[in-house]
Amino acid sequence: MEAAVSTNSPVARIPPMADRMDPLCGESVPQNNCRAGASPAEPHAGQAERSAYNKRAPAPRRPRQRAQKTKVGMISLGCAKNLVDAEIMLGSVLERGMEITSSAEDADVLVINTCAFIDSAKEESIDAILEAHQRRSLTKRRDQRIIVSGCLAQRFARELREQMPEVDVLIGLDQVTRLGEIIEKFLSKRGTSNIQHPTSHAGIARLARTSAFGVRRSMFDVSAASETEDVDADFVTPRPRYIPDYDTPRFRLTPAHSAYVKIAEGCNHPCSFCVIPQMRGRHRSREPGSVLAEIRALVAEGVREINLISQDTTYYGMDLWPEKAGPRQPVDSSRGPNLSSLLHAIQEIGGDFWVRLLYTHPAHWSDELITTIAECGKVARYIDIPLQHIDGTMLQKMRRETSREHIEDLIGRLRAGIPGIALRTTFIVGFPGETEAQFESLLDFIASARFERLGIFKYSQEEGSRAARMPGQIPTRVKNARYRKAMSIQREIAQQVARAQIGSQLKLLVDQPHSARSEADAPDVDPQVILNEPAPVGEFVCLKITGSRGYDLIA
Ligand code: SF4
Repeated sequence: MEAAVSTNSPVARIPPMADRMDPLCGESVPQNNCRAGASPAEPHAGQAERSAYNKRAPAPRRPRQRAQKTKVGMISLGCAKNLVDAEIMLGSVLERGMEITSSAEDADVLVINTCAFIDSAKEESIDAILEAHQRRSLTKRRDQRIIVSGCLAQRFARELREQMPEVDVLIGLDQVTRLGEIIEKFLSKRGTSNIQHPTSHAGIARLARTSAFGVRRSMFDVSAASETEDVDADFVTPRPRYIPDYDTPRFRLTPAHSAYVKIAEGCNHPCSFCVIPQMRGRHRSREPGSVLAEIRALVAEGVREINLISQDTTYYGMDLWPEKAGPRQPVDSSRGPNLSSLLHAIQEIGGDFWVRLLYTHPAHWSDELITTIAECGKVARYIDIPLQHIDGTMLQKMRRETSREHIEDLIGRLRAGIPGIALRTTFIVGFPGETEAQFESLLDFIASARFERLGIFKYSQEEGSRAARMPGQIPTRVKNARYRKAMSIQREIAQQVARAQIGSQLKLLVDQPHSARSEADAPDVDPQVILNEPAPVGEFVCLKITGSRGYDLIA
């Protein structure tokens, strides 16, 4: 294989193909179903084979054979945090001299980077694996290897190994930097893919109907389980500890002008509906110097938008403090590394860019952080702050470590302290035991708080979560009705918010010639500004808003 390819190769930037909110984490999470791709296949300038020498009659010259680079395809499902993992995996692939392909059929190895936050995400991941397997069965790529990574592989390695013989290799969250090495190791083994041992058609049908691993497991077809000796689950370690560093090779899958920077991994909160800490482990922050080095490099490359992500962005740095931080610890720069100090340092980086905060837990907000954002012009006037509910009893049952009083007070301080701030939040409806009165109080709060951006999620009963075992599970039809009711209130608010922008002059980041976003619009999850005249992609423009269309603005 050839020499390493550098990080963040400009060879190809693949815009997200589909976006979706992630309901379980409750965090507003972009869904990037990315099919990674790159340049067309290049033959490897490898060694030509030597013909055998025959003294009497020279053997006919065999055509020079060129060793082909291994081609790797990627399907990344789930949130932005998973997308960063996909980028790191592809970085390791390039580092090993392999090639990235956007064509699943072309790929020698197809990686499916799965999501397992909620049942529907698991189902989507399983469908993607089965689809990939069916595709290789129907095409001439029967030798294609399927690797499954991401949260599903991390959490359900054993079940996948036992019940999905279609999968050739499983890798966990700690192994994302080792994908290239793992592929090399696996391909060097002689043998075929697990094409010979598919789950039966009946099994596939049942798998598709079954919502998740660990849920109603008896519905799975395990007839192929005895034939899974080829599946290698050795690459999944039980408790993930990995966090990326600034020099981790990475092949960005976002547009060239916008990047996600993962500042921490894991979560210490005990939210009763959530299984993320079980999958992603305890909160662990990157060193500030590592984050700043990465941002400097991205800005130098021309990136205009830095999106700071983690499971709990406001807790950033607190795990590095000499003295332990409590579950409601406010951001406090006198105690050690923290988000406020990080934002001040980012502000000092030269260049025209904005930095956006995603996934901030309400428990850790402090006046210091609010003042910092107000002072730092490069921090977008936008805060993503998942609240999940407003009723005190619901918040307690959700184990959100916040209260109605705290949330109402915080929203008042955010709006007063950061003029022009756009707030994005998410709420869960139909949590176990939610009464009509509690739901009505949530509707009243939505109507009065008037969030600029809001996502509503129907509670999803996650196997392994505390809430899954709670009495008072709400019927689906009730959840659906509550969802529709909450969304109809927010739809009206969002349209009023959009109409109120007409006539204002806004700084916009151009995503496509006729589509841009303001500071109030995070990539993938928020509305767009439709441009009447084409503008240069990847640049900031300042334009007057002339109209609105539903949630979107027109300029
Ligand atoms: S446990 Fe952590 S990741 Fe899960 S919803 Fe709570 S804060 Fe978010």
